[in-house]
Amino acid sequence: MSAKNNINIPFPKKPYRTHGGVHPRHNKTTAGVESVIMPPPEYVTISMNQNIGADCIPCVKPGDTVYLGQIIGDSDKYMSVPIHASVSGTVEKIIKQRDPLGRISDAVVIKSDGLMTPYPNLKADNPQNLSELTDTVRQSGLVGLGGAGFPAHIKLNVPEGKDVDTLIINFAECEPYITADHREALENSWDVFSGIYAFKDIIGIKRVIIAIENNKPDAIEVLKRIADNPTYDPDDLVRILVLKASYPYGAEKVLIKACTNRVVPEGGLPSDVGCLVMNITSVSFISRYIKSGMPLISKRVTVDGSAVKEPKNIIAPIGTSVKDIIEFCGGYKSEPKKLILGGPMMGVAIADDSEFIKKNTNAILAFDETESSLMRETACIRCGRCAQSCPMLLTPPLIEQQLKLNNLDELKKLGVMNCMECGCCAYSCPAGKHLVQMMRNAKAKLRSVK
Ligand code: SF4
Ligand code: SF4
Repeated sequence: MSAKNNINIPFPKKPYRTHGGVHPRHNKTTAGVESVIMPPPEYVTISMNQNIGADCIPCVKPGDTVYLGQIIGDSDKYMSVPIHASVSGTVEKIIKQRDPLGRISDAVVIKSDGLMTPYPNLKADNPQNLSELTDTVRQSGLVGLGGAGFPAHIKLNVPEGKDVDTLIINFAECEPYITADHREALENSWDVFSGIYAFKDIIGIKRVIIAIENNKPDAIEVLKRIADNPTYDPDDLVRILVLKASYPYGAEKVLIKACTNRVVPEGGLPSDVGCLVMNITSVSFISRYIKSGMPLISKRVTVDGSAVKEPKNIIAPIGTSVKDIIEFCGGYKSEPKKLILGGPMMGVAIADDSEFIKKNTNAILAFDETESSLMRETACIRCGRCAQSCPMLLTPPLIEQQLKLNNLDELKKLGVMNCMECGCCAYSCPAGKHLVQMMRNAKAKLRSVK
């Protein structure tokens, strides 16, 4: 069961053991509903902060005519990707915008002309080496579409001396409610394979594992059928690895362990253990970009929750307001008491629906009173469930203790910086303790003394 192309790296027959994790209700109610393309809204507000790393600087000014896919912001910093117009129209203004985490960035407001006229200079591409590939992917504006927003070209730029043999396609989509990747796999399954084949030789990939949770049987069937077809997988390079649904399988380090039994060292990267992990929608986007030259200008977003009238996946221009998207989904059926950008475990709560979607927004959730009440926090009862559920083997009560004592050396020893803020500890805590916030505070404390 090994790949044909030279080195004999066997595929795993089943996932390797990982630590911790929790099993929240899946609530994937939109999985069976075809995505709907949303017409351009009257205005889009496109933040210049769309990725982990540096903000872009607007390169357009009020009054400029812009076209779909035209660059409207860029940066010369390493950790950055250009930002493109998601509608054609006229730049109305450039504003300062505060995001839900309190960061202030420029944002370009475009009044749509409703025509979605493409920028005339867009062209297909065919990268032949690593430098061309990373340049192409940077120009596409791609950031990790699973939610992290890491610039994709940096991920693909495997450091010299690192031998990456395994590409893991992250199709866990383990957060409750979110089905955006699920719809991508069903609606654009061929693109996933042509995306893999577009860059696997350039990186030197020897095997590709599409890791998918078992709550997506239709997608498993479709992808298996393609992987078994020599027309689409001529090098017999791709296997589907079915994971028993558990949160947070989608976390990079957890997924690498499950697929390869390799452990990324503290502070290390997947390439340190010969792996490259890419979200499934990101890979199929690369395939489409290479063929069409149309950069990342829209996003599939799962709209769901007890307060939404017509839950569905919509494909909306980046910079569309949450309000416009909810209206497109029939509006609210009850008063929303909690709004979240992203999933219920790792998403960001927003005060109201005046926020705008970004490249890495994969869900908008609106909950009514019944599903939004917070448990009252009480004293720790030393039950240990938080530590049992932590995929990174951390012990939140000990960390909390050392944080209160301001003991930075001990915080470091306890591995605080390994916390990926997945929320498993808080989810399993019977005392309702706000453990993720506590972990964020501990990380911030350590960062402040670096
Ligand atoms: S939030 Fe951090 S401490 Fe809590 S379970 Fe996740 S990794 Fe562990
Ligand atoms: S799960 Fe909650 S109550 Fe139990 S040990 Fe952890 S912090 Fe304490």
